[in-house]
Amino acid sequence: MSAAPSTATAPVAAGVREVVAEGVAEATGVADTTGVFADRLRRLAAQAARSGADVVVISPGADLQYFAGHSVTSHERLTALVVPAVGTAQMVLPALERPGWAGSPLEALGVPFTTWTDGMDPYPVLVDLLPADVRVLAVDYHMPAVHALGISWAVPGSELTLAGEIIGELRMRKGPSEIAALAEVGAAIDRVQARIGEWLRHGRTEAEVAADIAAAIVQEGHARAEFVIVGSGSNGASPHHEASSKVIAAGDPVVIDIGGPHASGYYSDCTRTYLVAGPETDPDFEKVYEVVRLAQQAGIDAVRPGVPAESIDRAARAVIEEAGYGPFFITRTGHGIGLEVHEHPYMVSGNDLPLEEGMAFSIEPGIYLPGRFGVRIEDIVVVGPEGAVLMNRAAKTLTTLGG
Ligand code: ZN
Ligand code: ZN
Repeated sequence: MSAAPSTATAPVAAGVREVVAEGVAEATGVADTTGVFADRLRRLAAQAARSGADVVVISPGADLQYFAGHSVTSHERLTALVVPAVGTAQMVLPALERPGWAGSPLEALGVPFTTWTDGMDPYPVLVDLLPADVRVLAVDYHMPAVHALGISWAVPGSELTLAGEIIGELRMRKGPSEIAALAEVGAAIDRVQARIGEWLRHGRTEAEVAADIAAAIVQEGHARAEFVIVGSGSNGASPHHEASSKVIAAGDPVVIDIGGPHASGYYSDCTRTYLVAGPETDPDFEKVYEVVRLAQQAGIDAVRPGVPAESIDRAARAVIEEAGYGPFFITRTGHGIGLEVHEHPYMVSGNDLPLEEGMAFSIEPGIYLPGRFGVRIEDIVVVGPEGAVLMNRAAKTLTTLGG
């Protein structure tokens, strides 16, 4: 919408624009979405078979949202999507939760729902749905241990293993509707970054500014504000500082890292570093800002299909090291994003995973000078056929506010 034009020069590939447009139609219900979920379930079963799992069991959370198009928050009652390597996917859930699944993609696909009621032992109910010769049970990373062990104990001789890798393989490659959702929530957080001047000025506390930003994150189209980092002055040198009662001073650099989920479940995550107007600022601030801006651009420019994830980290880090600030870039360069704010793939030294079209992740180098200030600039990108496609367009030229 009215997001400020980006100073980034990464190409936006025409092909990806078309894909995004298709995705918008899909996300708004113009196209049939059940095919997307049928395909995900098919690929999960195939991936399970390849990895030696007989069945994948998925509990509520982002993984269930991804495969079923719906999730719930209740964790103590067993709710699980059961996907055998060979056979039909099934859903097991408490009877009281069944109405909430009416109209869900899973229901539209004809996946059978089996309910249990309070007072019953739910694990035999689930086990009855499994093929008779099941031995290797793979569960998602976030399944409560009580359920993982309950299922495993109900299948004598079974082997319990983790399905996180199997699931991550699928989730890190985004389809058109997911890319459209990331673009939509990215534009929403850009609108908040464009409004920071309404709230950021000296004399206010970080917490006061953060409260205003959190309200705007919701106003501009998020389901909620998940994180609001306002790191002024020396607090900016701590990458995961949140917001404190510290009063923002004239001349403070301020790191603002904000995001949350859209109604679609897909997350935004965008950082800009601003300068609060004042007579005196750390003499190195402008130079450091420019180093980080160039490092972030180098990371963006390094993105293309086929290059290893760690090369994005290397490209950004080289700029910071050449400027002499290597020891002060104390984080990885980026993380995958989607239905969770941190997911695969990670842009980190040692990750030789080749990037593929559709992978979505942050590029967020920073320089953190203890006791002085920090600078971080962060955008979400999607790998397009010719390079990075930016999901954020908020301006990256140094902006002085509150004058
Ligand atoms: Zn962030
Ligand atoms: Zn991030």
